[in-house]
Amino acid sequence: MSKKEITVFWFRRDLRADDNAALFHALSEKENVLPVFIFDKNILEELNNAADPRVEFIHNKVLQLKKWFEAEGSSLLIKHSTPQKVFQELTSEYQVEAVYANRDYEPYGRERDEKVKKLLSEKKIDFHTFKDHVLMEIDEVLKKDGTPYTVFSPYGKMWRKVITDDAFKSYDSFGHIASLYSCKPFGNTTLESMGFKKTGYAIPSDQLQNEVIVEYDKKRNLPAENGTSRLGIHLRFGTISIRKLAKKARLLNDTFLNELIWRDFFMMILWHFPHVVDKAFKPAYDLIEWRNDEKAFEAWCKGKTGYPIVDAGMRELNETGFMHNRVRMITASFLTKHLLIDWRWGERYFAEKLLDFELSSNNGGWQWAAGSGCDAAPYFRVFNPELQTKKFDPKLNYIRKWVPEFEDFVYQKPIVEHKFARERALNTYKKALDKAKK
Ligand SMILES: Cc1cc2nc3c(=O)[nH]c(=O)nc-3n(C[C@H](O)[C@H](O)[C@H](O)COP(=O)(O)OP(=O)(O)OC[C@H]3O[C@@H](n4cnc5c(N)ncnc54)[C@H](O)[C@@H]3O)c2cc1C
Repeated sequence: MSKKEITVFWFRRDLRADDNAALFHALSEKENVLPVFIFDKNILEELNNAADPRVEFIHNKVLQLKKWFEAEGSSLLIKHSTPQKVFQELTSEYQVEAVYANRDYEPYGRERDEKVKKLLSEKKIDFHTFKDHVLMEIDEVLKKDGTPYTVFSPYGKMWRKVITDDAFKSYDSFGHIASLYSCKPFGNTTLESMGFKKTGYAIPSDQLQNEVIVEYDKKRNLPAENGTSRLGIHLRFGTISIRKLAKKARLLNDTFLNELIWRDFFMMILWHFPHVVDKAFKPAYDLIEWRNDEKAFEAWCKGKTGYPIVDAGMRELNETGFMHNRVRMITASFLTKHLLIDWRWGERYFAEKLLDFELSSNNGGWQWAAGSGCDAAPYFRVFNPELQTKKFDPKLNYIRKWVPEFEDFVYQKPIVEHKFARERALNTYKKALDKAKK
């Protein structure tokens, strides 16, 4: 029997059928397009927690997509395996014409895609990838000499200069739905069969609240307010389209658009400087002698440092999987400067807990706070938790919400005194930077 001819559309961090660049291209250029999603064992086996809300979120979204494709007379093939195995199987079962996917910029994604591309090219199958996750591609905003920017402000200026309306256009995947592969529903994969379970975490809505964005520049730094979009998880897994969001941002609030440009910036940095994954962007900062006190780290993780704004942030993170950006900056600065704990420890903890965890932005945020990143805060800028509280949580509403006991006499003493910690950080950083100069 001859094999069925199909084209594969491979879902990854783009879990939507609407306005999906690669899906649109597959459907408009080919016929018999079979959508596939792989629960990648290489990724899942690295996760420590069976109750990981992000896996549950992906699982729910994948099942929703499957239902949607089934209503269109097709289905979604869901696999729990490694990409290489899946493509071996698919190419032996079907006559695969081509594979379409949206580009992934992280080191693991790049390596995975190279391997799949090689496997496919040995079988003379084209692997087409598209820009979908970002607004501007990693090589679309470069300095005049063709090298990447390492400072945000000129990058942002150039980004705004070179971007055209084309970057915001929607892809009408629905208009070509007739090109889907007609088939009976495939089987389901349960969370439990993959070693995971339901968590009951509340996932922020994927709807942009216009009134929040209109006021974004005024309220985004106040953690007690509902002043940011909470769309991080949806951007991370592509359950909303960055183009649609950016189109609204352009109309509603330029400061909000600027944050989306930061997102592109960190993705571009990760692509061009992949060493940042485990090393400081600026090598001199790898000479810092971290104290790495495990007890202090545990106190920070649990929100028991005695600094109410730090504790509030960590408790918000532990309970909800979210932490407000201002407080991410404060808690990260506290860990690296006050406690002199290696930024990689904090980065790892955030990576485990954040619903919106994104390697590029998390790494960028942590290296910014530690002073080691591209365009980072200068090392001598040590956030004073008290002043930060006065400025950004003046009525203490955020702190009261997460650390209700802080006004009691029993609220614990700070694990380290601010003035002393600041001096210690400055001396330690200076020592490392002086050493690097020699
Ligand atoms: C130490 C530290 C760690 C961080 N880790 C992450 C992370 O793992 N994932 C992540 O998406 N962001 C991270 N950020 C950036 C920022 O804190 C979050 O994007 C933001 O708080 C998410 O909330 P929101 O969706 O309400 O964002 P909004 O303020 O509504 O912004 C909208 C979107 O813009 C993007 N964005 C906003 N600020 C930034 C920024 N500074 N850098 C890059 N993108 C930005 C995000 O995709 C965000 O969802 C980190 C920041 C710091 C200081």
